[in-house]
Order: sequence, then C-alpha cells, then structure tokens
Amino acid sequence: MKPLTVNFRDKAASTLKDKQIQQSLEHVYTGFFQGRLAAAGDTPDWNELRTKGKAIKDHTIAHLDYYLEQLTDNVEKNGGSVFFAEDAAEARKHIIDLAHKRNIKTVIKSKSMVSEEMGLAEAMNDEGFETIETDLGEYIIQLADETPYHLIAPAVHKSRKDVAKLLDDDFKEGDPVPDATELTMMARKKLRSVFERADMSVTGVNFAVAESGSIALVTNEGNGRMTTTVPRVHVAVMGMEKIVPSIQDLSTMLRILIRSATGQRISTYVTMINEARKSDEEEGPEEFHLVIMNNGRQKLLANPQMRESLNCLRCGACLNACPVYRKIGGHAYGWVYPGPIGSIISPVLTGLKDASNLPNASSLCGACHDACPVKINIPRMLLELRWRTAEGSTGKNERTSSYNERRIWGLWRLGMMGRRRFDFGARIASIVLRPLAKNGWLKKAPPPVSGWTSTRDFPLVASRSLKSRLHKRDRKAKP
Ligand code: SF4
Repeated sequence: MKPLTVNFRDKAASTLKDKQIQQSLEHVYTGFFQGRLAAAGDTPDWNELRTKGKAIKDHTIAHLDYYLEQLTDNVEKNGGSVFFAEDAAEARKHIIDLAHKRNIKTVIKSKSMVSEEMGLAEAMNDEGFETIETDLGEYIIQLADETPYHLIAPAVHKSRKDVAKLLDDDFKEGDPVPDATELTMMARKKLRSVFERADMSVTGVNFAVAESGSIALVTNEGNGRMTTTVPRVHVAVMGMEKIVPSIQDLSTMLRILIRSATGQRISTYVTMINEARKSDEEEGPEEFHLVIMNNGRQKLLANPQMRESLNCLRCGACLNACPVYRKIGGHAYGWVYPGPIGSIISPVLTGLKDASNLPNASSLCGACHDACPVKINIPRMLLELRWRTAEGSTGKNERTSSYNERRIWGLWRLGMMGRRRFDFGARIASIVLRPLAKNGWLKKAPPPVSGWTSTRDFPLVASRSLKSRLHKRDRKAKP
C-alpha cells in the first residue's frame, strides 16, 4: 500500500465536514472506549496486569533475536516452515510464489494488519488469484475498495445503509435499511461458497509463542477457524515483534489485549495453532507456513527513543481514547496504522518527510498512554518526532521543516533568551499584532500564513507589559 500520509490535512478536513462519518465515529467512544473502561473496572488487578504485560513485552523486545530463533526452531520441529521477509515486497513475492507452486486458485484471508502493510490481497488479485477477505469488516472495505479505518473495526465508518449497498448488488436507494443481523446473514451467504472453494488461507498472528512454536488468533467471527482449517495451505503472517516467550505470558497478554480492544473478558474465539494436520487427523491444512516480516521494524528496534512502539498489541485502545482520532477518523493518517500509535509507526516506517503532520495530530493530553494495556508512552514519542521534524533530523538526510520555519523559530529563541530582547519583541508585538488581531485581520491573512492563523484565536497582546504596569504602580505608591 502506497503511503498517503502527505494528504493528512485535506483528508482530516473533509472527514470533519462529513456528518455521517462523525456519527459513525461516536461508536468508537460509546462502544469500545466505554467497554474498555467497564472491563478494566471489573478486573481488580488491572493495573498490575498492565505492568506485567509491559514487562513481558520489554523483555521480549530486548531479547528479540533469541526468541525469534526459538520460535523458528519450534515451528520447524512442528513440521511448519518459516520465512523471514526483509520488506513487504519480499513477503508478497514469497507468498505469491508459494501459491503458484501449489497451484492455488482461491485465497481466503482473515483480518491481519501486517497483510495490509504488505498490500497482499491486492497483489494476489493482480496476480490472478481470487483473494477474498472473510472478516466481515475487512470484506466490507474490500467491496468498497478502501483501507481499514480502525485497527480492530475496519469498517467502523460505514453506516448500515452503506453496508447494505455494498453487500446487495440489487439494493435500491430508498429501500428499507436491513438490520445488522440481516446484513450479517447476507455476508455469510456470500462467503460460504468462497470458504468451500478456497485452497489457501492467509491469517495474521496476534501472538506467536516462542517456547511452543504456536500462533494465537483472537477473533469474534467464525471466519478465523474456517480460514485456518478448510483450505489445504495455511500461511500466517506477522511482524517480527508479535512474539511472547511462553504460554503463561500469552495468558497475561490475552487478558489485557481483549479487554482493551473490545471490552470483552474473552473474545468469542481464541484459536491456537501448533502445526498442520497430522497424518491420522481428518481435518486441517496440509501445510503451515509462517512469514515473519521486518519492513522497517529493525529501525525501531535500533532506536532507543522509539523502540517502545514495538510493544504495541494493535488493540486500538489508544485510537478509541484519542480526541483527535475520534474526529478526523482513520483515513486521514494515510497508511495502514491510524491514530496515536500510527502517528509514531508511520513516520518511522514510511519516512518522516511526508508524514511530518502526524506527530502534530495530538493534543498531548495523555489519554492514549492511560489507555494502553502495555503502558506505551505515546506522547513522549510524539514529542520526540516533533523535535526531529523541527530539527530536520529524520535519519534520512531529508529536511522536514522549511528554511523559513527554522529561521523564525531561531529568532523566537533568540528573543526569549535575553530580557531586553524579550521586552523589545513584546513592544513590537503590541504595536504591530494588536491592531491586526483587534480588527480580525490575522484570521484573514493570505497563505501560507493563513495555514496557521485561520483556525486559531488570537488573544490581544497587552498594550503595556505587566512589568511596566507594576513599575508604574510602584512609582505612584512611593511617597
Ligand atoms: S499503542 Fe497501546 S493502546 Fe495503542 S494499539 Fe498499541 S497496544 Fe493498543
């Protein structure tokens, strides 16, 4: 998927004007956010669980090479194969080559953000494989030819009417809008025959367990189990950070992930897969392949300031808590990962130059940090990226702030660092800016100044500074 992070402002502005999307986004708060709060409130050791989850992830990421090796050994011992992909292109090629070799016709997918990162469904369709999403939300956005809007609810921005139109080719404008159950049954009917003819599946991985070589999938629809059992070839794709050392660690992570994502105590299905079908078993795939992708994660690992972002479980809680995401929606972020965590991952993985607006899409209120099940300090990393943007130091030898911007901030710093210079600057501001703000001219400034002034209020600069007022008062008070 080509990053469109550069379109952030336009996309955010159009979403703010879209009443239907604004209404749909309310569910993010009333459903997911409130649900997480209730689930956390019902869990007496909630904060300790989060601390434990953070410790597990910190430890795993610090010893990632060891656990990746252990995972690989155990998957291979179980009869599966493991492929390390340096980037999305290498991962796509490996899976497409495998599909050609196995004479595959139809590929079914269950929800996976890493496969979105690879642009896998599109690439496989282009290559001539019928490739169909089976998670209901993913299926809807595949029909709409869009990208996911939310980490766990890809079609959260679609109304029932939109969904009805997409699912039913004969849907006529003005027909009564079917209810959720009716829409689900329509999708089920359409997908049933796809499951029956599929000969390859691609799933994500919520956690890979190093000590057993198993993968865990957390789903609420039956599609996850159908996808991993019906086709003869199963390919699971994961980012290299999606790993936990042991089954015991997995149980902690599942408790915090599921409560943080949907507010459930446990999801409808938690599927553990250890291997392909054994010779004496009647059901299950004949082959199991695990594709582990780097795609820039090593850059995050090598950077002590940004490494913590690899702890992310992709639960979506920070999106639900974020007052900015809840207004501008998911497509404004322009790449696979939206919301506060996307504002960190996207600039580092796709380049800060085009994504420099993302770290600024935050009020730094800290709600994301409070909501995160593994206590990732998102505001700290957003500030780090803002600093790098201002400094133009993206690690890619690219300038992210303009020459003029840097000069203006340089002058600002110079003015703030000397008493006399500060007083002189304040005097000039009261003479020049005061009349402009008083008459509302600042708001009407032409571009590029309007980019900053049109949406901000400007309190009047005082005609005289506090210091000079106090000085005058003291003089008057003297006998
Ligand atoms: S940063 Fe934390 S809250 Fe946000 S998706 Fe990742 S784990 Fe969930």
